[in-house]
Amino acid sequence: MDYRPKILKRIQKKPIKVNYLKVMKERCLLCTCCASVCPNSGIDITENEVIFNENCTECKICVKSCPVGAIE
Ligand code: SF4
Ligand code: SF4
Repeated sequence: MDYRPKILKRIQKKPIKVNYLKVMKERCLLCTCCASVCPNSGIDITENEVIFNENCTECKICVKSCPVGAIE
């Protein structure tokens, strides 16, 4: 029998994901290199932004691929 309160059960079902990678907007050229090398489809590129999504495992392959060193 699970005696956790309902709200706690709901929260604990979701894996807690913390993204540590950041893109320096002032450097980013939106060239999409990072997204194309990602093995996990962990990057979404919008009109003006690079966003790491929940698929990112922080393998850092994209960091090396960025031609201007915008990912840190
Ligand atoms: S590879 Fe670098 S410059 Fe290109 S979109 Fe990604 S973060 Fe921006
Ligand atoms: S760190 Fe790895 S998994 Fe995350 S976005 Fe970059 S290449 Fe993809």
